[in-house]
This record gives sequence, C-alpha cells and structure tokens, in this order.
Amino acid sequence: MDEGTRSRGEHRVVVIGAGVAGLVAALQLAARGLQVTLLEAADTPGGKMRQPLVDGAAIDSGPTVFTMRWVFEQIFASAGTRLEDELKLSSLPVLARHAWNANERLDLFADPALSRDAIARFAGPAEAARFVQFCKQARAVYDALEGPFIRSQSPTLASMSGDLGLKGLAVLASLGPMSSLWEALGKHFHDYRLQQLFARYATYCGSSPWEAPSTLMLVTQVELDGVWAVEGGMHALARSLATLATRHGAQLRYGQRVASIETDGGRASAVITAEGERIAADSVVFNGDMSALGLGLVGESVRRAATPLTPSKRSLSALTWSVHAPTEGFALERHNVFFQPDYQQEFSDIFGRSRLPRTPTVYVCAQDRGTAEAADTPPERDRLLVLVNAPAQGSRNLDESEIDACESHTFSLLGRYGLTVRRTPQNSLRTTPADFQRLFPGSAGALYGMATHGWMSAFSRNGAQTRVPGLYLAGGSVHPGPGVPMAAMSGQLAAATLMARLDSTSRSRRVAISGGMSMR
Ligand SMILES: Cc1cc2nc3c(=O)[nH]c(=O)nc-3n(C[C@H](O)[C@H](O)[C@H](O)COP(=O)(O)OP(=O)(O)OC[C@H]3O[C@@H](n4cnc5c(N)ncnc54)[C@H](O)[C@@H]3O)c2cc1C
Repeated sequence: MDEGTRSRGEHRVVVIGAGVAGLVAALQLAARGLQVTLLEAADTPGGKMRQPLVDGAAIDSGPTVFTMRWVFEQIFASAGTRLEDELKLSSLPVLARHAWNANERLDLFADPALSRDAIARFAGPAEAARFVQFCKQARAVYDALEGPFIRSQSPTLASMSGDLGLKGLAVLASLGPMSSLWEALGKHFHDYRLQQLFARYATYCGSSPWEAPSTLMLVTQVELDGVWAVEGGMHALARSLATLATRHGAQLRYGQRVASIETDGGRASAVITAEGERIAADSVVFNGDMSALGLGLVGESVRRAATPLTPSKRSLSALTWSVHAPTEGFALERHNVFFQPDYQQEFSDIFGRSRLPRTPTVYVCAQDRGTAEAADTPPERDRLLVLVNAPAQGSRNLDESEIDACESHTFSLLGRYGLTVRRTPQNSLRTTPADFQRLFPGSAGALYGMATHGWMSAFSRNGAQTRVPGLYLAGGSVHPGPGVPMAAMSGQLAAATLMARLDSTSRSRRVAISGGMSMR
C-alpha cells in the first residue's frame, strides 16, 4: 500500500534500533501522530550509550563527553517538554585534563580565558596568543559549516558551495586547500603537545588527524562550547528519550532482533523478527550500522539500500575497560587524556598496519568526578571507562596475546603518569573490537561508520533517504556523522524526510483525487 493512502494516524512506522538516532526518530514521528513501533535487539535502550554492570556498579561504557546541548534542547522542545525538566545536567568547569608524563599537565576549561592562561603557563604567552587565534578560526569554520553541511539533509559539494556564500568560502580557503587537520594545526601551534591535543579531536569522528581534513577543527569548537555531565550517566539520556517516545504513544520493544525487512513491489512493507513475528509497516527507519543493509544482514530485498564499507574506509574501533576500583596518585577530572610522545605511530599502527597501537594514547573517563558535588565527596571506588583506539575488524583480526600486551602497556602507562588503578578480574570488564562487532552487526567494530579521511569523505555518507522506497536511515554511520548529538540530528533528519515524503504523497493524491472529481 502506498504511504500516502493512509492518514497520518494510520501510518505505521517500524524503527529498528534504539540507539540515540532511532529513539529521536521514534519520538518525533510519534509526536507527529504516526503509529510507531521500535524494535531493539538489546534489553535496554541506548545502543552505544550502554551501561554494563561491573562489580555492582553501572558504568557508562560508550559515549562519555556530552556536547551540543542545544541539539537536545530542540529535540525535547519539539516533544513538548524541556531538557532540564527531564534530565539533570551539570556544566563541567574543566573540559579535560591532559598529561604527557608524571609532571606535564594541562587543563582546558569551559572559560576560554582560563584555558588561555593555563596554556600561557604551560607553553608560554606566544602559544597562548596562538590558541586565541586558533579558537577564532575553529569558530569561523563551525559557523560556516553548521547550516550548509551539518543541518543540511544530504549535502553535496555543489550544494554546499552554493550555500556557503562568499564569507564561508573564504573561511574554508583560509585553511589551505586540501590540508589535513594535522597540517592546519601545525600552522597555529609551535608546541607539539598542543598540536597533538587539538589533533585528537579527529578521533571523535573515528579518524586519523593525518588524513582528516582541516575542517574537522570544528569538533574542537563543539567541545570548547561546553561539556556537561548527565546525572545517571549518558545512558540516562537514552532512557529519557525512550520514556518520552512512549509518552507520545510509540511502542518500544526490547530483546527483539529484526532478521529481515520485507518489500512489496520494491517498497519496504514489513519486518520479520528473529522469533518469526511479522510486523507490517508503511515505512521503516533503520538505526543499525548502514553496512548491515548492504551485507544482507537484514535480508536480500533491501541489500541495495546501502553499500557496505570496505575495510580501508572504516573508522576507528576501540579497546575499552569498564572498571569499578579504587584509584590513587593522580587527581582525576571527569575527562582525562594521557598522551605519548610519538602520536603519528598510533595512527600508522591502526590504519596502516591494522594492529593495536604500540604506544596508545589513553583516555580515562572518571564518571564520579568533575562536578561541584563530586569535589565535595570523592568516591571511594571510581567508575572508570579506560579507552584506547583500535583498528576495526576486517583485514586482520586481533589475537588475544596482542590485546593482552596492549592492556599491559595501557595500565603501565597510567602508572608511570601517576595513576594507579586497583583492578581485579572481578572489577574490570574488557570490550574488544570483536565485541563491538557483535553488539553492532555490520560495523566490523568501527564505532563511527566511515572514517572522515580526505576532503570528499564527508559527502560520501548516506543521507536518510535510500534506494528502497519507504526505507530510511538514521544513526552515526550516516549523515551528518558520528557522536551523540550528530546521530540525534540524523534521527531528526530521518523523521523530517519521512514526514516530507508522506506530506508530498498525500498532497499529490489529493490533487489527483480533486482532479479526478473535477473531470466527472
Ligand atoms: C566507546 C565509545 C565512546 C564514544 N564516545 C563518544 C563521546 O564521548 N561523545 C559522543 O558524542 N559520541 C561518542 N561515541 C559515539 C556515539 O556513541 C555514537 O556515534 C552514537 O551513540 C551512535 O548512535 P546511533 O544512533 O548510531 O545508534 P547505535 O548506538 O549504534 O545503536 C544502534 C542500535 O540498533 C540496534 N540494532 C542494530 N541492528 C538491529 C536489528 N537487526 N534489530 C534490532 N536492533 C538492531 C543495536 O542493538 C543498537 O542498540 C562513542 C562511541 C563508543 C562506542
């Protein structure tokens, strides 16, 4: 049946996946009166925003850095409520603490003047002045690209060039034609450590700073604009979106893996769960990794909807440890980064040799630190997510001995920099790229879809629309890209694309019907 033949209230949408994009799409479609059923393979909402129990403690083991608060303010407002009424967010005064050895430390602050002063003490006043110039350029890049790229449905180079206007084109030209993020940062900073610190933002999109375009400095701007702690962890955001979607009438069903999407006359028409239940649909929103479609993991009839990524295009995976343990020796902030001297080696190991880095940068999220309340009562045992970048599965799978070696490098590095973590087999849970592949089928463990490598890569992501009528995509593997707020925006784009299609089909049907009537 054509999607326009049913009224809005009768239009049946099945959303596959309760990642942030699936939840946002379900919420917005339900809020507009459509009949929404969301099917999620896991037992809880959130997808990568997961929170396993380790030694009795719920530990945020996916995203930890909450930015672009305004995206969620708009989403919650579109559902008739306010973000601050549903979730408690605290702004973090220290964005992140960075260490290069036991003595060299630099904090970045929410207040840019404090960051400038900290950089002046750390690397001298000239470098602090360069930081101020860098912030101006990062802000200009962000402002230039927000409308024409981030918020655009499915930008192409041509459409974006038109939308940028002369001012925006001048901003991009000032970056230097086709320069990488690493090169662009080299023009700003003379101190290698600062180049390294700001280059790391490429990894937020799962990419190497040596291959990412300089435009990715906009990610820095996103973080400098503010980082918040969510009470209850990032997973609480997923729960809150799920509750809101239910309030608007969406039916959310967990423990329901979709085995296939059926088509009728080439159009998505139903989904079949692993248990064999058939659920008819007028539209389907797929929130799994888009490669799963092209790999045939949800049926042959929708294979053509998306082309799976080849191994060389995949973004970073990760090796993580979710830990509930006493720590000592290092004053942890909420977000902490422990750098090694040779940064490039990390990316040549991962992207060049498909191996775990021999000298990994280590990120530690200390979930109970960083807020005013936490400063009053430091925890007896910290809830930590320890993360190092890793290659996605594919051309070469990692063996246990390589993973064990990386684990011992990681924790001995923390020890050398002053942080002792009292781990035991009971209080530490390791998650490998192979585990991520199992959790997120089709991803090969790549956590951010396609790597943003080269200037054209950003335009190669799928938009919400697919080649299969009635089938839409939402998630970090499609436009505008990975990260919780970006994936949330893709959920909005999927809902908007579906609604626009529905409205245009019902309009053309009305015209056809009234045309037909006038002929009688
Ligand atoms: C370790 C880690 C750290 C990260 N750090 C940050 C960070 O600090 N800040 C940030 O903004 N972002 C971060 N990210 C990225 C961010 O988490 C993701 O970009 C975002 O959460 C992706 O959301 P999504 O909508 O694509 O859905 P996903 O989270 O990928 O969820 C997809 C859901 O679909 C379900 N699904 C798939 N196939 C099926 C099927 N056939 N049937 C039923 N269900 C199915 C899956 O079970 C899953 O629940 C991090 C990610 C990871 C893993």
